[in-house]
Formats: sequence, structure tokens, C-alpha cells
Amino acid sequence: MKTTREAWRPLQREELRDELVHDSYKSKRKLSETTRCPECGAVYHEGRWGWGTAAAGVHEELCPACHRIHDRFPAGYVTLKGAFFAAHRDEVLHLARNREAHEKAEHPLERIMAIEDVEDGALITTTDTHLARDIGEAVHAAYRGKLEYHYNKEENLLRVQWAR
Ligand SMILES: [Zn+2]
Repeated sequence: MKTTREAWRPLQREELRDELVHDSYKSKRKLSETTRCPECGAVYHEGRWGWGTAAAGVHEELCPACHRIHDRFPAGYVTLKGAFFAAHRDEVLHLARNREAHEKAEHPLERIMAIEDVEDGALITTTDTHLARDIGEAVHAAYRGKLEYHYNKEENLLRVQWAR
């Protein structure tokens, strides 16, 4: 990853709404109307990826989420730490999974890539910054604790840190 340390900056929750952009990972050129992702079946239509059906023989290209999964290059990183988390790990992760299911039903690019153990907690990686933000907000709304965001605008990456 060529990300530089300087490119990361802390963000307030209110700032995120205007900052986060929709992921166009590896979509250098304009996609043709209509495009279907051969991996997950999402369909690009009228400028956005959604779930739907496409006629046979349409252009096929990986959606940004599947590209990121292939490259193992997440857009969102959510770390969950602390003694409360350790004691309620399953419950908190269940909430995160629910949040993903809810978002993914509407937005194909919003997916959890992996949930890994890290020192003193867990790391959830996501295919899109919006889902990382939403998981952080959902966990904070349910359990309070301390929530922080760091955003890298150049690379469109978001780090969310929650601790309790
Ligand atoms: Zn896909």
C-alpha cells in the first residue's frame, strides 16, 4: 500500500457525511450501461451498482467490491477494543453483521471482507467506507464507548476505532 501517514486525518462524525465518496475502485473508465459483475451478480445501471437482473450478453466487469476482495484491499477498517468488547464480543460482532446485511440488501458494494482477531480486540474490514462508518455508528449507538474516525481522502480509506 502506498498510503502515506500524512494523508490520514482525524474527522468528526458530522464531517463524514460530506467527505465520503462512492467507491470507484479500479473503475478508471466509465462503465458501459449496463454492466454485470460476474462474481456477485450486481448490475451497474444508470450510474450506480444495484442488485437486479441483466439481459444475457451484457458487458461483464468486476464491481469495485469484488475487485477489492480479489486484491485484499479494504476501503474500511473498524477496530473494536476494550474490556467491554472482550466480554461482549459475540454480541457486538453480531450487531456489525446485522448492519452489513441491512446495507448490503440495498447497496451491493457495502460488504464485510473479514473479521480478524487483533491484539486486544477485533478488526472488521469492509469494501466501502460507508459501511465502516455505519458499523462504528451502530456500535456506538448501542453501547456508547469511544469512537474515532481517520480518513484518507486521496485513497478513499476510512479507519474507525471504537473502544469500550
Ligand atoms: Zn461484484
